[in-house]
Amino acid sequence: MTVEHSRPLHRGRFAPSPTGPLHMGSLLAAMGSYLQARHSGGQWLVRVEDLDPPREVPGATTAILAGLEAHGFEWDGKVVYQSERGESYLAALDVLARQQFLFACRCSRRDLFKAGKAGKEGPIYPGTCRQAGLADAPGRALRFAPAPGILCFRDALQGKICEDVRRETGDFVVRRRDGLIAYQLAVVVDDAEQGINAVVRGCDLLRSTARQIRLQQALGLAQPEYMHLPLIMGRDRKKLSKQNGAEPLDDSQALANLYRAHHLLRQKPLDTGAVTTVREFWSLAIANWDPSPLIGLREIAAPAAARL
Ligand code: GLU
Repeated sequence: MTVEHSRPLHRGRFAPSPTGPLHMGSLLAAMGSYLQARHSGGQWLVRVEDLDPPREVPGATTAILAGLEAHGFEWDGKVVYQSERGESYLAALDVLARQQFLFACRCSRRDLFKAGKAGKEGPIYPGTCRQAGLADAPGRALRFAPAPGILCFRDALQGKICEDVRRETGDFVVRRRDGLIAYQLAVVVDDAEQGINAVVRGCDLLRSTARQIRLQQALGLAQPEYMHLPLIMGRDRKKLSKQNGAEPLDDSQALANLYRAHHLLRQKPLDTGAVTTVREFWSLAIANWDPSPLIGLREIAAPAAARL
């Protein structure tokens, strides 16, 4: 008798923030996570990260979902909206508070820039309020004090990544001073509640991952597998975004857009004679998906002449 070691079904997701319509950078993240999920016969979910109303662009959610549909993405279940999930986030804050992981903080950004040593993503929190015993009150943030020590995880493309979150980032915000829940907490709570076990996303979030794992550990949640895809860089050598030249994708050119993204993901060209529709594109692309050419790659230069 053969013993089968059944792996749990792969459950991936695409989690766009509604800051604008899809562009080539976001299509790459959607395509990478979709191919990784469907190639292994797994599921793929969509979650709209509309957690930050001041940054939200009106109409962006509708445009993103219409763009995904036009490009032939088929998601499992209903789209989840972070704006409707406040109760789960508050419950998680409660769990963290009961275990003494949180403290209230009244430092302003200016205080931190003055007092904090520069880290890779802004100042490292200098610990100002950690022992102050401040009450939680309007206008105060809640910070999470991560366990000390180096944390390592294996990324499927980027290899072993290690970070001492406490030393390199410091205690980080999980509820902002304006009362909004921070991305780091929401993403951890949502991925767990949606049963996501494979997170495929852009390399801009590689440095957030150690923080997210520290939160998972504190909340007693399972750690998903991670795969961080290279980012397309804009003209200014920064992640491609609306600000540096990313054009919204033209949904009427879906097949051409898919081909371009597929090529940027270093996939072997598909037999174009066999592909005349988006549906045919996906069936071949899913069957032939191979992320190995992306191993160790963090950036892709935008082709000079291409409209992205
Ligand atoms: N909402 C994030 C973004 O659009 C992605 C979050 C994630 O994939 O974890 O950049």
